[in-house]
Amino acid sequence: MSNTVAMIHIPSLIDDAKCFATVRELRWPKGVPCPHCDSPEITKQGRDDTQPERQRYLCKSCHRRFDDLTDTIFAGHHQPLRIWILCLYFMGLNLSNRQIAQELDLNKDDVHQMTTQLRQGIVAKKASPALSGEVECDEVYIVAGHKGQPEAVAKKGASADGAASKVPEDEAPSKVRNRRSSG
Ligand SMILES: [Zn+2]
Repeated sequence: MSNTVAMIHIPSLIDDAKCFATVRELRWPKGVPCPHCDSPEITKQGRDDTQPERQRYLCKSCHRRFDDLTDTIFAGHHQPLRIWILCLYFMGLNLSNRQIAQELDLNKDDVHQMTTQLRQGIVAKKASPALSGEVECDEVYIVAGHKGQPEAVAKKGASADGAASKVPEDEAPSKVRNRRSSG
């Protein structure tokens, strides 16, 4: 059994195309903007010479080129993208750096460096920080729509306004004042 398990080498089972697709979804959930000028007017410009799954783009506004990994922590790194994606996956499973190193046939120090970088987000540097992990937002307003119930809407609006105007102007708790202890 242990021999069979040893034969399963996860990195070789991973699809490179899907790894690049994953990065695109992570960094550009709403479509691809130019990383230099933020313009959404971009065109595809073929694939990378050595990594056929890596899409290249040209910005129509600033005419600069970029690709899937431009400005990410994966760019210019000697580890293939699938190793990074697997590392990210193992981090999600709460594996230790030592365990990840074992799974990926890597040095523990290298894995430490990778996990440290991954925790800070996949998009490197830049003024606007990339959102990753747990993201909180203060308030979200959702308009549920009042289609077909114009009366309800009008009524609700009116009563809301009315209620607002009825609020006493000064209900400050003045009694609270002068309650300092004399000690
Ligand atoms: Zn641009």
